[in-house]
Amino acid sequence: MIGKNKQRKGYEACSGCGVCLLSCPVWHRTQTMSLTRKARAKAIQGGATYKEIANSIDMCLLCGACETACPEGIGLADLNIHQRRELNRSRTEYPFWYPDKKFAMDSHGGVSKAAALLLAGEGLRANQEVCESVMGLLQQKAETALSRDDGQDIARGMEAGLPVPQERIEGFISSLRPARTLIVAEGWLHRPLRKWLPGKKIIGLGESLLSSGYLSRRLGPEDLYVIESRGYHADHKRLVLFYDRLRRETGCQTNLDLQRTAFSTGASSLQGRKDIAAAGCIENAKHILRGRRVKRVVVEDLADLEPFRRAADIPVIHLGFLGSKEQTS
Ligand code: SF4
Ligand code: SF4
Repeated sequence: MIGKNKQRKGYEACSGCGVCLLSCPVWHRTQTMSLTRKARAKAIQGGATYKEIANSIDMCLLCGACETACPEGIGLADLNIHQRRELNRSRTEYPFWYPDKKFAMDSHGGVSKAAALLLAGEGLRANQEVCESVMGLLQQKAETALSRDDGQDIARGMEAGLPVPQERIEGFISSLRPARTLIVAEGWLHRPLRKWLPGKKIIGLGESLLSSGYLSRRLGPEDLYVIESRGYHADHKRLVLFYDRLRRETGCQTNLDLQRTAFSTGASSLQGRKDIAAAGCIENAKHILRGRRVKRVVVEDLADLEPFRRAADIPVIHLGFLGSKEQTS
């Protein structure tokens, strides 16, 4: 094990209070108690096997909101993955959205000497226009390079509860060590990177781009700013203060509820990557928009563009284009 893992409580601590339902996109969409984090915890307490609650485990979008909400301090993010790993032991068939079990654990190699590294992730890498815009903005602040290895194969393997070779993880971490700051666009890697590289400055794309003030001055009360949920919940205490300040200074609306958990579309999940409609991402975007008067949606996570475009007839842009005249991509 690289780095120290903060000890949190297990299933036995679940009181069944149901607070974790408040920001759970699966609960809001399905209204089915058996598919919730609370139901899984109580089922395990009662002696259920992982196979018996397989459907509930598979429905979870791993957004991380339930851990932030849980008043008992249960380590729900790690437990959600633990359940997938355990379920995989007894699986004979995998859901259609599972990554190929043989998918390459490839290292892209190379170490960059830049002070800051952007781990772009699949979405940004595939969209050259947005990626160039983001890199241009980051380089105005500090010497920043695009990481040649952004660990996406590791992230997808871990999210699915599949075994990831230790040598692959070690190679990935070695390539990141020289950088002072890691800017991690996709949220999944925030938690493991904090364990593997304690003391390293690890921030999300939103925090990095907004902290200069150039982009935040372009947000206003008629904007809905959609925070990437996984990275946000992984560093919740600190980021609550950051986004509260953003709201105070700009008047923008966000996908945070009153207890400051982020409601997610789930578009970055394995299920959402395969089919945003089947995974409920469009329904979740509609839920976020319900009752709001907004004229524009600004997303941190590129994966959220499509669900919001299909949920509402207003402009939806990525944060990297907030400063541009076109504001359409
Ligand atoms: S991780 Fe997200 S989707 Fe899964 S149970 Fe928790 S709140 Fe619901
Ligand atoms: S919030 Fe925590 S204690 Fe309450 S039902 Fe959910 S997991 Fe259990």
